[in-house]
Amino acid sequence: MDSTNSPPAFHILAKPTGAICNLDCSYCFFLSKEQLYIGSRFRMTDEVLGSYLHQYLAAQRVPHATIAWQGGEPTLMGLDFYRRSIECEQKYARSGMTIERTLQTNGTLLDEEWCIFLREHHYLVGLSVDGPRELHDAYRVDKAGRPTFDRVLHAARLLQEYNVEFNILCAVSAANVTHPVEVYEFFRDDVGAQFIQFIPIVERHNETGFQEGNTVTDRSVTAEQWGRFLIAIFNEWVTCDVGRVFVQHFDAALAAWAGAPPAVCIFSPTCGTALALEHNGDLYSCDHFVEPNYLLGNILETPLIELVSSDAQRQFGLNKRDTLPRYCQECPVRFACHGECPKNRFIRTPTGDLGLNYLCAGYRAFFAHIDQPMRQMTALLREGRAPADVMSKHRPPTALGKAGRNDPCPCGSGLKYKKCHGAQKRG
Ligand code: SF4
Ligand code: SF4
Repeated sequence: MDSTNSPPAFHILAKPTGAICNLDCSYCFFLSKEQLYIGSRFRMTDEVLGSYLHQYLAAQRVPHATIAWQGGEPTLMGLDFYRRSIECEQKYARSGMTIERTLQTNGTLLDEEWCIFLREHHYLVGLSVDGPRELHDAYRVDKAGRPTFDRVLHAARLLQEYNVEFNILCAVSAANVTHPVEVYEFFRDDVGAQFIQFIPIVERHNETGFQEGNTVTDRSVTAEQWGRFLIAIFNEWVTCDVGRVFVQHFDAALAAWAGAPPAVCIFSPTCGTALALEHNGDLYSCDHFVEPNYLLGNILETPLIELVSSDAQRQFGLNKRDTLPRYCQECPVRFACHGECPKNRFIRTPTGDLGLNYLCAGYRAFFAHIDQPMRQMTALLREGRAPADVMSKHRPPTALGKAGRNDPCPCGSGLKYKKCHGAQKRG
């Protein structure tokens, strides 16, 4: 096995059921990928499972690895598949290797037996929830068009009951993007979530489901909406929740301001070390590029390490940096944004260059807005203090505390006081 050019560690999102899901979320970019494998049973065989884990674990030149299952809906494989996966890990992991396991799920099939298994094997579960009932159910429906909120909330309660670690993955669409604080408060106060990831829906208008075309569907967010969404939640977080609620975008920003390497690929200068494995062993450059032009090969035919180290994959990762338009190269917040994900780079810059990120205006506004608190948190870190100390600097003057709960917040946010700075009373 030639590992000369291979990255010391890389990440694979494995899709044991391919694009198959028991729900029919209107904005899901992956459901149309079923067309890539017409006639398939969409179930990862034990041969692919064993080969994948054997090759993947052997290829990590670091003492830890993450085994990540995603879909479609990975729980459709049934628990026995994951039991066999644990057996394979035990067989192929090097001694002393630590393994993190993750499972991204819509939660609707989770029950007590699942939770006992997930707890026993220390899975980190990513649960897809889009906010309170009416916002969640706007797009997250099952095959019969029925709402799924109650089933997903039941899953969240079960996970809590069985002490399974989970985070929230919230797709931000046209339905919930104008309700940022409501969505955030729901996760924090009603679900009791500590870790939250927001994913903006940028869904291109085409029949293929591929990254083609430069118009988006009505379900997508606009750049400005996305910026306002992040800013409103940041305002709440920075006055009340630093150190106790973790929002992926804010953590990534703090890393950027502190000069640490970004933990998420979208904000890294280059990418290419987060690949996607289909149910039949086909390996693609990224979960967002499961399409014929980005198929690297099949791990049953070509060693995984060769595919990951191939020129095609290296170039895929470098393109993130090398295709940045001049507008991004000269951007004051490039150090934090790096043009975000290439999948969203399909508009023109003000001077007409192609390849600007569709969400750019939102990111510019967001990163400019958080500059001062990020500098303050970075300074605290350098002094060996907790970033949470920043909250005292962002608490509004006492006079704000005299507003009525339903009055407009005196800070000028346009929100009711109870939804804005009134919320800090809890802290
Ligand atoms: S294309 Fe986007 S999601 Fe995929 S690895 Fe690159 S930055 Fe990450
Ligand atoms: S904020 Fe806009 S211009 Fe700046 S790096 Fe990001 S996408 Fe490019």
